[in-house]
Amino acid sequence: MRPVPNGLADIPADQATVRRSNLSLVLRHLREHGPQSRSAVAAATGLNKTTVTSLVGELRARGLIRENGPQHAGAVGRPGLALTLDGTRVGALGLEINVDYIAAFATDLGGRVLIDRRVGFDAMGCDPERSLDELARLAREALAELGLLGIHVAGITVAVPGLIDGANGVVHVAPNLGWYGVPVAERLSWDVAPTIPVTVVNDANLAALAEFTSGVAAGTTDLVYLTGEVGVGGGIIAGGRLLGGADGFAGEVGHVMVDSAGERCGCGRTGCWETKVGLAALVRMVTPDHAYGVPDGIVRDPEERLAEIERRQAEGDPQVVHALAEVGRWLGLGSATLVRLFNPRVIVVGGYFARLSEHLLPRAQAELTRLGVTGTVAHCTFVASDLGFGAASRGAAGVVVDRVLADPTAIEILPPEMSTISGA
Ligand SMILES: [Zn+2]
Repeated sequence: MRPVPNGLADIPADQATVRRSNLSLVLRHLREHGPQSRSAVAAATGLNKTTVTSLVGELRARGLIRENGPQHAGAVGRPGLALTLDGTRVGALGLEINVDYIAAFATDLGGRVLIDRRVGFDAMGCDPERSLDELARLAREALAELGLLGIHVAGITVAVPGLIDGANGVVHVAPNLGWYGVPVAERLSWDVAPTIPVTVVNDANLAALAEFTSGVAAGTTDLVYLTGEVGVGGGIIAGGRLLGGADGFAGEVGHVMVDSAGERCGCGRTGCWETKVGLAALVRMVTPDHAYGVPDGIVRDPEERLAEIERRQAEGDPQVVHALAEVGRWLGLGSATLVRLFNPRVIVVGGYFARLSEHLLPRAQAELTRLGVTGTVAHCTFVASDLGFGAASRGAAGVVVDRVLADPTAIEILPPEMSTISGA
């Protein structure tokens, strides 16, 4: 087989940047607007037809687009043939590790869901090595399935509830997992996929991106996302962009102190917001014998715990009714600060907050009104996410797709015989 050119090595750096940006422009255009002819792409993007033809040739060679409609020998390039995003060859894998589960979510480039899986797992009761073993096992399983589907995985992003060094994929601290300085990216690369780029991102930030692109409030340019897990994380979309902060640590709302006389938090401080509204707080109030961190040898998926709480709520169990009212009140109280700081149009709640939204959100909304932060001046409403506990892993896969759309040269040019097959 002759060597496959990498496409950009032979041209100067500034031209390579322009070329990459134009490849991205054409690919995004086809993803957003569906199949169209070369002329239509040229008209919409402002690129000339010769450039479009050249870009299309390269995107085809990378297996990212194909041509629809009847194709006869020698007819390639004939006006009228519809170009379309070829989502079927390139895939993205999102993984998530949380306190009581691990999850995998994979899509192809066109957004078709290929894998959506969650497995109950007691990460709180395991050391990081054991947790990473389990995450690696799930990753290998997912990659094997994607391999059988003929999918080339462009990248893996791992969602972790903690503070992460995005440059090297090391988790500085994930208090509820008990992780300090854990090199997640290096470990997965070494153990699972040496040739696939692995990145690690805060779970709530990923979930916020998933909400912004495909959730109930999709397209709302100013929104706050709150994860209701054992811990509570936040992701802030301001002006249509995720707020990262100087170190990428913005949105750590769960560890904002709301009660100086409150409970000890997993982070070592006292009275953090998540000690009032995290799932661990609710479970501690309603099932103290099965609280998180109390070993009883049983791994409970969050859905199981919530099913019990819902059942008892429906029976009018006063302990549960009171606990839900308290969580709802504190949810509103903490959110009032976020509304004052970020003036979001909506606060999307995910995880268990969404599952129990009918019991939590009316109280939380009333608290915002009582505190005078919403009403005639600012309008902000709570809405429940419909992405469930999968929001972060979905967002993780989305980040990989975005990276390919931003830089299609990240996908290698196929050997000639394969690009012919994919273009047929
Ligand atoms: Zn804390």
